Amino acid sequence: MFETYTETLEDLKSHSHLRTLKDYEGKDEKYIYFRGQKLLNLSSNNYLGFADNREITKEFLEYAGADYSFGSASARLLTGSLPVYKELENLITDLYKSGGTLLFNSGYHANVGINSTLAGKGDVIFSDKLNHASIIDGMRLSDGKFFRYPHNDMDALEKLLLRERCNFNNAIIVSESVFSMDGDIADIRRLVALKKKYNCILVLDEAHAFGVFGQKGLGVCELMGLIDEVDLIMGTFGKSVGSMGAFVTGRKVLIDYLINKARSFIFSTALPPVNIAFSKWIIENKFPHTFEKRQRMLALGRKLGSESHIIPVIIGENDRTAEVCDILFDNGYFTLPIRPPTVPKGTSRIRLSLTTEIEERDLEKLCSIIGSINKTIKS
Ligand code: PMP
Repeated sequence: MFETYTETLEDLKSHSHLRTLKDYEGKDEKYIYFRGQKLLNLSSNNYLGFADNREITKEFLEYAGADYSFGSASARLLTGSLPVYKELENLITDLYKSGGTLLFNSGYHANVGINSTLAGKGDVIFSDKLNHASIIDGMRLSDGKFFRYPHNDMDALEKLLLRERCNFNNAIIVSESVFSMDGDIADIRRLVALKKKYNCILVLDEAHAFGVFGQKGLGVCELMGLIDEVDLIMGTFGKSVGSMGAFVTGRKVLIDYLINKARSFIFSTALPPVNIAFSKWIIENKFPHTFEKRQRMLALGRKLGSESHIIPVIIGENDRTAEVCDILFDNGYFTLPIRPPTVPKGTSRIRLSLTTEIEERDLEKLCSIIGSINKTIKS
């Protein structure tokens, strides 16, 4: 009975696709410690350096004391809803000036909840081809139909809308704002125009933009002055905030609908209060002092050829990508090979993610190594 599993694993291994857990020895806000080496961490979503940061943890614990427990012991709709959850939701609602906010246990829960719930029978979702797995999984769970349009191709999306929109009741357009594996940015202005023209609900996943873009760090929609034009914005606390969880903010009717229908919200124990308190504390007290650091990080990203702080170095083949990571490892850099199915076949890559802790001089050696190994770095 277990043979098929073994065969699949062997097949994955023979194609350099096998995923294994690594025994890291430790981390701080800038470095990762692995196989006895101290390596610059270029593979983390700790964009503002708030995770794995002893100073920040200490400061928070001094503020929080024993006020917040380490378990909620219940789903929000049962007994798992203490004041701090509502306080964080209200904070997000105030920041975005939206109709309401709902916390989810992770970005994965949020995307599964949104997409599986808002598109019911007779409805349709139009999704960017490079959208995150959690969006895809949500669509798969939905009773509606979904179409994937070529990455960031607004003309192709319009063609699809023209052909298909009239065949369905409610229609949703869903996109990431900063794409997680490519670091490029969606054409939000055009998405807004299309959602208006074809009477759709626009949902944006700002997981990689929340805490990074915009004066207040609210994301690309803030930067572009388009917050009001988007029906639902999703952001996560596991990246820039250095915590865990996610929020969905936007139209009140949609938030109320999610509270009533989103199974990934209803049937899961709420995050620990201490975690919620940490997210709230970071957003209230630390975000307002990050603007200049964030601008420097984004300028470095642009210098390396990206629109954001995420820089893909596309190598192509799995084996070659792993080899390049090994060379970088030997030179003090921690990077991970990103392979299919996370990215399309033949586009295996190293995904460099900058943080505000990383300075230009930290990357000089890396750029010359990559430049000499592979000329495909975008610069
Ligand atoms: N959306 C995007 C674009 C992501 O990159 C991720 C995580 N990498 C998620 C959602 C899921 O968020 P979380 O890790 O909080 O589950």
